[in-house]
Amino acid sequence: MDKDLKDKTLGELEQIVVELGQKKYLAGYIFGFIHVENVTEISQITPLSKAFRQQLSEQGYYISALTITKILTDKDGTVKYLFTLADGSRIETVLLPEGKSGPMDSHRKTLCISTQVGCNLGCSFCATAKIGFTRNLTAAEIVDQVNVVEADTGKITNVVYMGMGEPLLNYDAVIKSAGILNHPKGKNIGIRHITISTCGITAGIKKLAQQELHPRLAISLNAPTDALRTQLMPINAKYPLAELFKAIRVYQNSTHQRVTFEYVMIKGINDSDEHAKTLVKLLHGFMCHVNLIEHNPYPGCDFAGSGSERIKRFKTILERAGIETTVRFRMGRGIKAACGQLGAEQLKKQ
Ligand code: SF4
Repeated sequence: MDKDLKDKTLGELEQIVVELGQKKYLAGYIFGFIHVENVTEISQITPLSKAFRQQLSEQGYYISALTITKILTDKDGTVKYLFTLADGSRIETVLLPEGKSGPMDSHRKTLCISTQVGCNLGCSFCATAKIGFTRNLTAAEIVDQVNVVEADTGKITNVVYMGMGEPLLNYDAVIKSAGILNHPKGKNIGIRHITISTCGITAGIKKLAQQELHPRLAISLNAPTDALRTQLMPINAKYPLAELFKAIRVYQNSTHQRVTFEYVMIKGINDSDEHAKTLVKLLHGFMCHVNLIEHNPYPGCDFAGSGSERIKRFKTILERAGIETTVRFRMGRGIKAACGQLGAEQLKKQ
């Protein structure tokens, strides 16, 4: 058993504490000091007796911590963190503040977190795909992205699992981390403020529908037909649209939640009026919201963003059909905020 205390739920900590012959309630201090006070040493959990802290350390328990390797701040307020993990792997996390005077003044702070080191799904528009896949993150490594950024900039209000990696291919650690972030004795981030974004792993979506906690679900859609989607996202060949939408139906029937569809707007590829009209047909009857995001090009990428006029026209077609649509501005262009860009660059330098 791994002895990282950050990787444990409150229930697991209670079990450890009891097995060590201590009172169960002491686990609450360990959980709170790790996830609210952001401590990284057992010796800092001062409500525990010195003897118990020593006992934990002697038994091999520890608190893992990510190391910040680089922080880049864009003039639009976006902040990108490059973290180094204990094994030397690198991951990225992006803070998207919604305030006028930068991250320290924003009341709503959304953190886009990674779930894997790299990714093996090979989406053709994505910088992370170029890195390839190394490994899944632990729940502690996922949660710690929030802990470290919060210690740096203050309270994180919203978390989106939309950074490097496919969250539903690291299902157990992702669900465990969402439970830890949501726990009232920890960060207490409302479950409706936690979003899991998937490329469409249908088995994972159906499994998520059975969970007790239901985070918001976002689908990275990006194309309205199987042919185009498979071209942009090879995973679509395994989970084609009909199957994906069946799984979304299962999720909605069980949670009664609106689903968000993310649609990256790529010039001349998926952004015509025809594409918009086909999308309208595809989404017919679904309780949903569409986010249009202009493609953020990175060096060596063959695609360009659609431009504001085209995006506006696309949005109008969706809205006329009654589909609620938001345009998400490209944030952090100056700091390579598209997922994987910074990691890819660092890997090139190694
Ligand atoms: S878009 Fe997401 S799933 Fe696709 S390659 Fe990039 S990180 Fe992986």
